[in-house]
Amino acid sequence: MLNFIDPPLKLHTVFQEHKMKDNTKVRVMEGFVRFIGTGGARVVVANQMRSTGGLWLNYRNTNLYIDPGPGAIVRLRAMQHHLDPQRLDGIILTHKHLDHANDVNIMMEAMTESGHKRHGHLFCPEDAIGEDAVVFRYVREYVEGIELLKENGSYRLKDIDFSVPVRHIHPVEAYGIVFRLNKRIALIADTRFFEHLPEHYQAEILIVNVLRTKPILDTDPIDHLSLADFKEIITRIRPEVAIMTHFGKTIIREKPYLLAKALKKETGVEVVAAYDGMKLEF
Ligand SMILES: [Zn+2]
Repeated sequence: MLNFIDPPLKLHTVFQEHKMKDNTKVRVMEGFVRFIGTGGARVVVANQMRSTGGLWLNYRNTNLYIDPGPGAIVRLRAMQHHLDPQRLDGIILTHKHLDHANDVNIMMEAMTESGHKRHGHLFCPEDAIGEDAVVFRYVREYVEGIELLKENGSYRLKDIDFSVPVRHIHPVEAYGIVFRLNKRIALIADTRFFEHLPEHYQAEILIVNVLRTKPILDTDPIDHLSLADFKEIITRIRPEVAIMTHFGKTIIREKPYLLAKALKKETGVEVVAAYDGMKLEF
């Protein structure tokens, strides 16, 4: 059996020692985020320096998969965390790029036992099912419903309430998510930084796709957040914990846990670099 998980133990300890402001809530764990993959962008997708499997979010009796990129189903099964896709209630695509959506069809099949047990919902931008769709037509029949993500949209899936505050600056229609659970958990998906970005994602737990070490230039065709953007965001939001994920190759080479440590020192914010298989409980 291949073991895809290589958790840096030191980092895990740092996270275990983290104390939330409200101790009572921490003791009563009502949900978790499992990082099935923490890699992003083309080179990392191709060489799998990190898994590109996205996130599993559980809250009470509801399970949601976010951005099942290439290898999501394989990594999920290999991890042996007993996370069974049949228990999913829904899948969110923040956008249709391959590193976020490649495994959406197989994940929908696995969720519904190839349509034999029709259930669950897909949430995605309109262009994910429009022309050049990433979700096959026949697979769309397997779920109970498809809901389109729109700016200022509010959604409910059993125990999970979430909203989509603003359209991101990205070559395709892309959104981040704010989950209103026992804590506010925000996910800032792929985007170019813009002035009002941080104010849309006020949250206690902040997860950010930090693809690059260096800021993009105006001439760059790909709109992604850099380390400097991440620093600006966490300085303005000041969450209880800020988690970096969805790393590109240069940031992986510079060792994300070292970058997180430096940022924590600079900002005073608890910064954690996610690793494949990491579980965040709340
Ligand atoms: Zn993207």
